Amino acid sequence: MRTVDEHLAEVMSVVGPLSPLEVGLLDAHGCVLAEDVVAPAPLPGFDNSAMDGYAVRVADLERLPAVLPVVGDIAAGPASSLRVQPGLCVRIMTGALMPAGADAVVPLEWTDGGVAQVRIDRRPDVGGYVRRAGEDVVAGETVLTAGTYLGSSQVGLAAAVGRGRLLVRPRPRVVVVSTGSELVEPGFPLGPGQLHDSNSLALTTACIEAGAIAYRVGIVPDDGRRLLASLEDQLVRADVLVTSGGVSVGAYDVVKEVLSRIGTVGFHKVAMQPGMPQGFGTIGPDSTPVFGLPGNPVSAMVSFEAFVRPALRRMLGDEQTARPSVSAISTADLRSPAGKRSFLRVWLEWRDGAYVASPVSGTGSHLLAGMARANALAVVPEDVDGIQAGNAVRVLLLERRTA
Ligand code: AMP
Ligand code: MG
Repeated sequence: MRTVDEHLAEVMSVVGPLSPLEVGLLDAHGCVLAEDVVAPAPLPGFDNSAMDGYAVRVADLERLPAVLPVVGDIAAGPASSLRVQPGLCVRIMTGALMPAGADAVVPLEWTDGGVAQVRIDRRPDVGGYVRRAGEDVVAGETVLTAGTYLGSSQVGLAAAVGRGRLLVRPRPRVVVVSTGSELVEPGFPLGPGQLHDSNSLALTTACIEAGAIAYRVGIVPDDGRRLLASLEDQLVRADVLVTSGGVSVGAYDVVKEVLSRIGTVGFHKVAMQPGMPQGFGTIGPDSTPVFGLPGNPVSAMVSFEAFVRPALRRMLGDEQTARPSVSAISTADLRSPAGKRSFLRVWLEWRDGAYVASPVSGTGSHLLAGMARANALAVVPEDVDGIQAGNAVRVLLLERRTA
């Protein structure tokens, strides 16, 4: 028996960030930047109006209200050669280049909105309602550094400084295979003793939520030769292989039989609940990591959380490979077998100034409905055999967003 940390340490010693790749901005979203991004020019790139209004010389507004002739219009876009001479003004739109001679913008709301001439009731400060060039970013500034997670704001900033493509850590490609002769494709009717393959759907989508590109191969029966052929076929497009089922000690546990004979895959009892039997190692010419997860649906999902997700985050270049966790007050007694780390399905909420975790399911590793009701996993450590209601427990947040 090995601990969760020992098994995770073996996984993390094998996987590393993928080699950087240049991609378009939309593909870069959700990835980790592998270069520093420097702004070649300032942002804003030129002095421009912050409001729809009139570009003026503040000195012309000494007495209010003031009436000034309007000598033209400047819209956002094409540069205008208009110049604001003393005693005159120009109608200007938000984002338009400030005309030479003007030193402020009077918002439309402070005027009568005139076209040929305008009555101005209030006076802005010099520089008022003008966005200065370089106010946001100066030329030569590093706006994003290698290692930054590229969310929507970061993608927007890269675009604003003129980048069409970025060097990022690519998303790992994961192939997901379900094994079991009892499995039937969802959407098709069941015969006696059969059940629908839920693991490959749950694991494929969990990979996507973790930031990977995932391919679902679907069901492979408990037949060693077919499993081996299927895995060998998939190696070309996989940075990671994930199987479920067939890793215990049953007579038809073919994943264990087949994978034990190739590559470096080892099968271990890991001191956790659920999810005790775990296979991990590398196979194929590129030493592709392969996870042999247990078949029980909750065991498969918890094993994914414990081992596969951190590995995928590492491959993506994310330094934060663990789920965020908080300390929460448990509303019920939590029990955990001595010497094992337990992952319990809970509903976490913020109540009266504290996080509160309530169990939503029994502990059976086949109780998928309970897993689907949970938004977090309470973690009871190995050296604790229970947590009494009202005491604190560490809780891993299962975010619902796509990474
Ligand atoms: P195994 O690890 O293959 O012995 O499977 C353990 C339990 O999980 C058995 O009850 C299987 O029927 C079930 N199981 C295995 N694979 C899947 C799957 N892909 N979807 C749903 N249940 C599964
Ligand atoms: Mg099986």
